[in-house]
Amino acid sequence: MLSIAEKIEYINRRLPETTQLLAISKFHPASLIQEAYDAGQRLFGESREQELAQKQAELPKDIEWHFIGHLQTNKVKYIAPYVAMIHSVDSLRLLEEIDKQAKKCERTIDCLLELHVAQEESKFGFSFDEVRRLYEEKWLEKYPNVRVRGLMGMASNTEDDLQVRREFASIAAFFDEIKQKYDASVDTLSMGMTNDWKIAVEEGSTMVRIGSFIFGERVY
Ligand SMILES: *Cc1c(COP(=O)(O)O)cnc(C)c1O
Repeated sequence: MLSIAEKIEYINRRLPETTQLLAISKFHPASLIQEAYDAGQRLFGESREQELAQKQAELPKDIEWHFIGHLQTNKVKYIAPYVAMIHSVDSLRLLEEIDKQAKKCERTIDCLLELHVAQEESKFGFSFDEVRRLYEEKWLEKYPNVRVRGLMGMASNTEDDLQVRREFASIAAFFDEIKQKYDASVDTLSMGMTNDWKIAVEEGSTMVRIGSFIFGERVY
């Protein structure tokens, strides 16, 4: 069995310099996060606001905490003071609330727009056309304390690697479209998890979100 440090090293050896590893620590205890931290890992992702708040209070302050789960608008205020990036922005209402809470904290919060691509995985996320409309109708400019850095996508949960590759490729092509047509400064394409991160990297991911491979199966 590989240790947490060895698994992180295994992944990092296979990532291009332009791709970052976000270690998804949801449902795992602070002691395992500390183990990954001691191995040099600094970016961690969580999916529940209370769990994140507890871990953030307890663990080293130079950890970059990313939020990856469905976020209710009434929970934004709790994570706004310290969250480094929110990957799961799936509505304008949420964006508006993040902007409001970021402003109260006198900061700008980095966000990604979550795409709805996978066949059955998530009920949440924007379609490509909805994202185009956000840019064309200049909605994002209304939120000065939010900085949209790019996109987050998930592929279908299937054994069919070709389908997974096609989905990642279409997300990556859409990311390029955003960059060329609307905002040359977007730089983050968050895609790839334990089962499909190697394909995601080949298709252009700049941030992989890996949980179970590093920390083991989650006990819910
Ligand atoms: C849980 C989760 C992950 C990590 O999944 P693993 O298969 O354990 O690597 C990545 N992204 C999102 C959005 C998640 O909810």
